[in-house]
Amino acid sequence: MYCYDLSVRTAYVDQQRLYGNFTSLTLAVEGQEHRAVQASLAVPAAFLAGKDESRLLLACGLESTHLRLDGQHSYGLQASSYHDLIDYPFEIAEQDKFDFIIQDSTHQTLHHRFYLSGKHSANMGRLQQDITQICQCYLDWLGDAPFNDYTFMTFASGQDYGGLEHINSTSLITPRRDLPTLDEPKIPSTDYQRFLGLCSHEYFHSWWVKTVRPDVMLDVDLRREAFTPLLWVFEGFTSYIDDFMLQASGVIDKPSYLKLLAEQINRYYQTAGRAYQSIAESSFDAWIKLYRNDENTGNAGISYYNKGALVALCLDLTLLQKSNGRYRLFDVVKAFYTQAKQNDNKRIGINSADMGTVIGQFMPIEDWEDFEYRYVNGVEELPIEALLAANGISMHSNSKETADKHVPWGMRCTETPLDSKSIA
Ligand SMILES: [Zn+2]
Repeated sequence: MYCYDLSVRTAYVDQQRLYGNFTSLTLAVEGQEHRAVQASLAVPAAFLAGKDESRLLLACGLESTHLRLDGQHSYGLQASSYHDLIDYPFEIAEQDKFDFIIQDSTHQTLHHRFYLSGKHSANMGRLQQDITQICQCYLDWLGDAPFNDYTFMTFASGQDYGGLEHINSTSLITPRRDLPTLDEPKIPSTDYQRFLGLCSHEYFHSWWVKTVRPDVMLDVDLRREAFTPLLWVFEGFTSYIDDFMLQASGVIDKPSYLKLLAEQINRYYQTAGRAYQSIAESSFDAWIKLYRNDENTGNAGISYYNKGALVALCLDLTLLQKSNGRYRLFDVVKAFYTQAKQNDNKRIGINSADMGTVIGQFMPIEDWEDFEYRYVNGVEELPIEALLAANGISMHSNSKETADKHVPWGMRCTETPLDSKSIA
């Protein structure tokens, strides 16, 4: 098996880390995908050389047993099925860790764990304070969680970046400069805001992807692609709500939030492809477009993350307007989550028609159909400026700053100082 991919998707093994997703390590046995699975992870003695064994930890959303015998560490994991097993990535390495408790609306305590591996000098106290505040804000809004405990697994690297959601955990890779410093200012630096945004994004996915999901991802056949026009709903809503919750939880202030929003808006206006590909199409074609991007991607298409976040913003503000201030996007999410909880398996798969049914409870259905026609299935320019203005926020384009760098045909230029390492 291949174990040298420094991403959150597959597996990585070197002298410092043993990391894996079982999708890359174990095959499913046809016809037995629903039988209980036991996995043992044996750490070779050679891996322990030079390590502080008191810091050697297994991070994983699954409960584990630990045995230390004849100089070897071994861990046991038990999953209810193959599909269950592949939802629990793990990491064994020297790690820093803190625990914290979040309370749901019935004052039940939910245990949370945060693991950090890799070289770093992060301010762990500050990290704990901010992450706790963000997670509590989600529980205050959603009432309860689709898990009893939650595990954040983070690897601090030089440049790499990524995150993947799981039912009660998330696997993250972040540049170490995005972690809080010992003298982190009260308002987090833009780098640190990016990391907090990533944590917020993946955490929300536990409700909004793992619990409420596109119908085609409910009983998924792993041998083939699952096509859905709704990735904009799941990644777009999440990309809007992740930053929104940083502000709602008080971790960042309003001006910082508006800056993050402005970045999304800039990205949208700088993507010429928004006139050619709808977010429904962008979602459906993710397998062959967004995940296989090339030099023409920005001209021919739009990201369902970026435009999806702005459609979520527009939908939020339209709901407010059409319901005379009574309802918001958050009510739509909560209505779906409530439906999921009523199912036996505590999950729900939704399609485009379900979107109409639920949104229609919060604003006139004709208004939603018109919105969907223009901005979801169509490529009409989003009414961002008008909707923000109706809520007292004005938009200005700072063309003076960008005039010098103006290049035709949607080309982009970035100025980077010559890196001595890259020319050595
Ligand atoms: Zn996501």
